[in-house]
Amino acid sequence: MALSEMMKQYLLTKEQYKDCILFYRLGDFYEMFYDDAITCSKVLELTLTGKDCGEEQRAPMCGIPHHAKDTYIPKLLEKGYKVAICEQTNTPISEKSKVVKRVVVRIITPGTAIEEESLSADRNNYLMSIFVSKTDAGIAVADISTGFMQFMTLGANYMQAIDDVIVRLRPAEIICNALAFDVREKLACVHSEIAPVFNKCEESYFSYGQAEKLLKKQFELKNIDTYEPSMNKSGIQAVGGLLSYLAETQMRLVSNIKKLQFVRDDRFMQLDMNTRRNLELTESMSLKKKFGSLLWLLDQTTTPMGARLMRKIINEPLQHKNEIDARLDAVEELVGNAVFADDVIEQISRVQDIERKCAKISAGTIMPKELIALADTLKVIPKLKNLLVDAKSPLLTKINDTLYDLDKVYNLIDSAISEDATNNRKDGGYIKQGYSTELDMARSMGEYGKTWLAELEVKEKERTGIKNLKTGYNRVFGYYIEVSAGQTSLVPDNYIRKQTTVNSERYITPELKEMEYKILNSNEESLKIESKIYADILEVLNSFVELMLETSYSLACLDVLSSFAVVSKRYNYTKPTILQTGSELKIVDGRHPVVEALLKNSSFVPNDCNLDSEDNRLMLITGPNMAGKSTYMRQIAIITLLAHIGMFVPAKEATLSIVDRIFTRVGASDDLAFGQSTFMVEMSEVANILNNATGKSLIILDEVGRGTSTYDGLSIAWALIEYLSKHLVAKTLFSTHYHELTELEGKVDGVKNYRVMVREFEDSVVFLHKIARGSANKSFGIEVAKLAGLPSELVKRSKEILKMQEDINALSPKPAINNENKQKRQSFNADEVINVLKELDMDTVSPLMAFGTLQNLVDKVKDK
Ligand code: ATP
Repeated sequence: MALSEMMKQYLLTKEQYKDCILFYRLGDFYEMFYDDAITCSKVLELTLTGKDCGEEQRAPMCGIPHHAKDTYIPKLLEKGYKVAICEQTNTPISEKSKVVKRVVVRIITPGTAIEEESLSADRNNYLMSIFVSKTDAGIAVADISTGFMQFMTLGANYMQAIDDVIVRLRPAEIICNALAFDVREKLACVHSEIAPVFNKCEESYFSYGQAEKLLKKQFELKNIDTYEPSMNKSGIQAVGGLLSYLAETQMRLVSNIKKLQFVRDDRFMQLDMNTRRNLELTESMSLKKKFGSLLWLLDQTTTPMGARLMRKIINEPLQHKNEIDARLDAVEELVGNAVFADDVIEQISRVQDIERKCAKISAGTIMPKELIALADTLKVIPKLKNLLVDAKSPLLTKINDTLYDLDKVYNLIDSAISEDATNNRKDGGYIKQGYSTELDMARSMGEYGKTWLAELEVKEKERTGIKNLKTGYNRVFGYYIEVSAGQTSLVPDNYIRKQTTVNSERYITPELKEMEYKILNSNEESLKIESKIYADILEVLNSFVELMLETSYSLACLDVLSSFAVVSKRYNYTKPTILQTGSELKIVDGRHPVVEALLKNSSFVPNDCNLDSEDNRLMLITGPNMAGKSTYMRQIAIITLLAHIGMFVPAKEATLSIVDRIFTRVGASDDLAFGQSTFMVEMSEVANILNNATGKSLIILDEVGRGTSTYDGLSIAWALIEYLSKHLVAKTLFSTHYHELTELEGKVDGVKNYRVMVREFEDSVVFLHKIARGSANKSFGIEVAKLAGLPSELVKRSKEILKMQEDINALSPKPAINNENKQKRQSFNADEVINVLKELDMDTVSPLMAFGTLQNLVDKVKDK
């Protein structure tokens, strides 16, 4: 049996888009066939049917109504599929054929979606291109739904940098060349499944020649010298790959991408995946939700562009004092002038998503109602400019300068688009009366037709004497004259019977047919004219996209700065002093911003911090469980981060030198699910810190060594402190339950002991959460366990065992590492031995413990 013509056409198209799900337009539906149909029926929960295709077996098929595509496609993108949209044109494929031509008009991929249904309003949707050469690498990133594009060139040590950029930007899709594809397995973000699948593209996509050609076209350049090609060759090649991929998938120039930013690799603080997670920048560790994260606290933005920029800014702490100070000064001005700030916020809250509307203008998919919303937003700009005219801080002044007067855009939309336009262009009527004479004339033909029909009804009633004669319209027969069944004898000769219904007969006349043609034609004609007018309007609007995007970015900045000001004021934060050089990290009365915001009944206890790269290099913090060690260390890291994003900090005073990286080694990690033991994860994280930290880094180490036996753990922690002091001068916060480590103060450079204070009260402890100089002498683990509700029998027994252990240790203290004096054993004392034996309860002691006790006694005696 031969395949049907339509099916042959389908298979030819599918052959070209093998890696996509082909949405094949058949009338009012998109149909999927064969494997695509099976996949879609599962992912989209559609009924799988079959289609006679000329072969013996019916082809598996499922479909969706054409207007529902935007609700179905996101589900496929989420699962990483690409979708090729194949539309039908009205021309037949050959003179004889009834089958119309069909062409793929766009490939939608996870990183190239612009439909609202596939996007989150508060986060960017990045497409990332990675190019790795033999010596270096380049990365390019774009969000075509907002018109954003940037690139960076990475040196020989590019693996770490690629990891950092991926965890910073969290792209929806990654394309790459063959070398990048080969090294991807070495990336931590790939192991922890943070990175999406790497999609290897042809090498030609990344050729320098191709890049140069596409860059010139995209950015209307004569040459690409501005992007320093000699230094940034790999970066440019990554851009080339990205533009090639956009050309392949979008099949048009993505004209809302007007600018290509070059990002220097020293612009942002580097933060690895663990640190971002541990500091809970955008989601909390426990709930994996925005609630409880730093973003949750800081994000009081009211526009989608502001929300996206806020997420980006939190992930990109700055490295240059002037950039940070510019933000801090602007926040200070807003904090200092409440009326001004409130007015600014009130105006901004009316602003809509200009960036994503611009993307739709460029793609030609924006709906008339969205243009009305855009015009409404533009009305806010003169009001904001009026408010900002007296602003003093350079950043607010700059924002005012780049809020462009978009009167022309406003006037065009206002004069052309009808206020009650909908999100549907099919039925027309969205262009205002009076905007185009041609359209008005075409429409008036339609109007004239309607009046003519009404007049015809009156005239014919009179002429025939049929009282209930009516004119009407239906899709099948067009315009008709209706006469009820009982009156048909009065019907004149020129009426031609067309349809019989239950109670009536319907007729046409040659005169009516002629008018029908004119009316229907005029409708079609006016729809055509409206469409043409709309396309012309979009073309004009497209020429304003660059100005609209700059304005939109300025609005986003203003939104973020106002949000910073609101939070700073609400929680009484302070402007930090930033030093470009030096190593100071001085905080007076610092607080943990999120813990403070979440504490309902009690108030947060503030604490100081005094670190540098000289005498106060490493704070060794001891204290009971639950005392607040982790909270304190995270708070120092978060205050440091806040200062670097240009935000006020929760403290009375803060002076900070620029920190190039923050490292954290805190708690257990999710990597357990990927086959590594707790201890292995802990040690790899420590190794990563030692390999990458510099003298300008801040390191947080929370109880390193606890994942193994006490002696091993203590030895590693001890050696680690010595190593940090000798090889790195990074500022370090180190919490531990190994009290032996406190002996390092005075022996290892830069180590200073701190403890978290508690008050012992009867049989329990009260946590004061206050950090003080000196070391803690007790862990209070059992007391905390009791507070946690362990059975009293268990608590009592723990105390007995603890006492026994302490006695044994008193006889034979742990070998003090690296401390010659400590290694000498204590002298033998027969009374002590007798006491140990007396204390030993033979009914309860385990064989292992008995052996340990005996071993200690033997050692003692032999040592004598
Ligand atoms: P562990 O050694 O068991 O890990 P920890 O010493 O690290 O304990 P944290 O987890 O930091 O203790 O703090 C325990 C609790 O104490 C937290 O839930 C927090 O709410 C509260 N807390 C910590 N610091 C403060 C503070 N400065 N003011 C008020 N409450 C605090």
